[in-house]
Amino acid sequence: MQPLPAPLIYLDHQATTPCAAEVVAAMEPHWNGGFGNPASRAHRIGLAAAAAVDIARERIASHLDVPPDWVVFTSGATEANNLALKGLAETAAAPGHLVSVVSEHRAVLDPLEDLRRRGWELTLLPVDPDGRLDPARLDAAITPDTRLVSVMAANNEIGVIQPLEAIGRLCRSRGVPWHCDAAQAFGHMALEPRRLGIDLLSLSGHKLYGPKGIGALVVAPEIRLHAQLHGGGQERGLRAGTLPVPLIAGLAEASALAQADRVERQQRCSELRQRLLTPLLELGDVVVNGSMEHRLAHNLSVTVRGVNGAALHRELRRSIACSSGSACSAGEPSHVLAALGRSRREAEASLRLSLGRQTSEGEVDAAGSRIADVVRQLRRDRPG
Ligand SMILES: *Cc1c(COP(=O)(O)O)cnc(C)c1O
Repeated sequence: MQPLPAPLIYLDHQATTPCAAEVVAAMEPHWNGGFGNPASRAHRIGLAAAAAVDIARERIASHLDVPPDWVVFTSGATEANNLALKGLAETAAAPGHLVSVVSEHRAVLDPLEDLRRRGWELTLLPVDPDGRLDPARLDAAITPDTRLVSVMAANNEIGVIQPLEAIGRLCRSRGVPWHCDAAQAFGHMALEPRRLGIDLLSLSGHKLYGPKGIGALVVAPEIRLHAQLHGGGQERGLRAGTLPVPLIAGLAEASALAQADRVERQQRCSELRQRLLTPLLELGDVVVNGSMEHRLAHNLSVTVRGVNGAALHRELRRSIACSSGSACSAGEPSHVLAALGRSRREAEASLRLSLGRQTSEGEVDAAGSRIADVVRQLRRDRPG
């Protein structure tokens, strides 16, 4: 008889989260009962769908402390980033200058690279060894031609939170709009774009226990954007396409749940993270990637010295779902870990362990001892 496979411990919540049961329940009435098109204003089936969208928009806006009409629904953070970056650039009479950071997500770097090919000048700032942007570098990089600064809230690989207050103050004083990819931050830390001085904020549903395929771009009223999808004029003409009412209702519910348990969840995750980190540090030659102080509570990223990364991940795969870096950079060594000065070999021997609402002490203990066993074994087999 085959031994039963050990249960897989899911420590990859920064790649995606399960949809909360309450979110599934909140979506349910909108699939075939309330199936209307919110743009069908001529009958009550359409009007009911429009009302559901209005309520969802108000809920999400209230969690961010912005007016509802700042919220533009998109298919996720990738689309929100594209709309923010290309949409803003395309309103300019001529190409100008853009400033961002080397450790941004590909969903920021790739649209910026597209603009660079279209004649825009692009400055990608380095980060300090702790993964944070030094605001003085940003200050020095802004020129009279700078049209936009794009700096994320929290990193998807190393969980490092950027100095948001300082960046906001700087962008305001220099009169440059700030786009912030908050896909990893929304629902996981306090985030008020108006207070922080964020003019464009991207968020995603599936990183906070909501459905995949929904997100939003929060747009301050002074910002002009050129639509990236043209059609039926939905979302004030900024994003055409029939609104996915179930997904929007799900995003609003996920946002409410996250708002309700955020502080407690952060506390719990940081305790669990410490419990996971302790046996790893005891191994020796294990380094934490990025600032421990300015970090999402549910992220841990470590580099394990003296082991082969491929072997490490192969041995862990059966019992722990985690990643070496980002879920989205297939096969490539992490550009984020490279930005911290890690070699290719070190980046490959790195683990991103991201905890979630359901993660238990038992899972963390089992994962910690499994990783420690594998690392000891690999170091014995192939010392150095
Ligand atoms: C996941 C993620 C994205 C992409 O979000 P989607 O909604 O999956 O398109 C963008 N930026 C960051 C920082 C992310 O973590």
